[in-house]
Amino acid sequence: MLKIHNLHAKVEDKTILKGLSLEIKPGEVHAIMGPNGAGKSTLGYVLSGRDGYEVIDGQVELKGKDLLELETEERAREGLFLAFQYPVEIPGVSNMEFMKESVNAMREARGEEPLSAAEFLKKAKEACKQVHLPLDFLKRGVNEGFSGGEKKRNEIMQMILLEPSLCILDESDSGLDIDALQVVADGVNSQRSPERSFIVVTHYQRLLDYIKPDFVHILADGKIVKSGDASLALEVEKEGYAWLGGKAQEAD
Ligand code: ADP
Ligand code: MG
Ligand code: MG
Repeated sequence: MLKIHNLHAKVEDKTILKGLSLEIKPGEVHAIMGPNGAGKSTLGYVLSGRDGYEVIDGQVELKGKDLLELETEERAREGLFLAFQYPVEIPGVSNMEFMKESVNAMREARGEEPLSAAEFLKKAKEACKQVHLPLDFLKRGVNEGFSGGEKKRNEIMQMILLEPSLCILDESDSGLDIDALQVVADGVNSQRSPERSFIVVTHYQRLLDYIKPDFVHILADGKIVKSGDASLALEVEKEGYAWLGGKAQEAD
């Protein structure tokens, strides 16, 4: 699904990723943990092709294609989904219209027929229910006045509707209450399939009680310093990161 080799990337002349390698097979869930400022969010942004994040060395393949050659939009159409990719408010465009267009663009990219308004509405209603959002939420402007918890639920709803092949969820900076945490976990668990992979970035071992990762990686100072199974998250919870040798940078 995803092969990252020796990735180096910088933001505003500061090198953040310093030789990161990671391989993810279809169906796998990988958790990434690590100290503040290690580069976890940067990794997601670099993969999604966000402006200002410059790759200076290394290769990334998504389903055999050179990801770094693709525009941000093309990456999304290849099935890459980064939660928080659409945090901006779009006044005057309803959540419903926005998602229908996005979903049909994805379907077109996969060579599938577009959904009719009625078909989309049915799916959107189901997804709304799954993430515990009221149906009138679909009529509201994109992200307009959404609370933190609503944004989180909306994000998971987008993931469910878009049916991406690689989902990246960055949960490290969001104050997840227990409800939101369960929505995220349930969203991921319901979408797990042999064809779909996940990268779940988290500070909280707690989230991994609900989402059982196949692998846990510790990212420190711009690279993966240790990988293991789910028990690594428990170890880190107990021991912190210092024993892994990666130096923590200043907190963000
Ligand atoms: P993490 O998600 O692991 O906490 P980040 O990827 O957010 O870490 O940040 C890694 C480092 O990159 C931090 O030192 C942060 O201050 C720096 N950084 C991130 N984005 C920018 C930016 N736009 N401009 C300058 N520095 C940045
Ligand atoms: Mg951070
Ligand atoms: Mg972060």
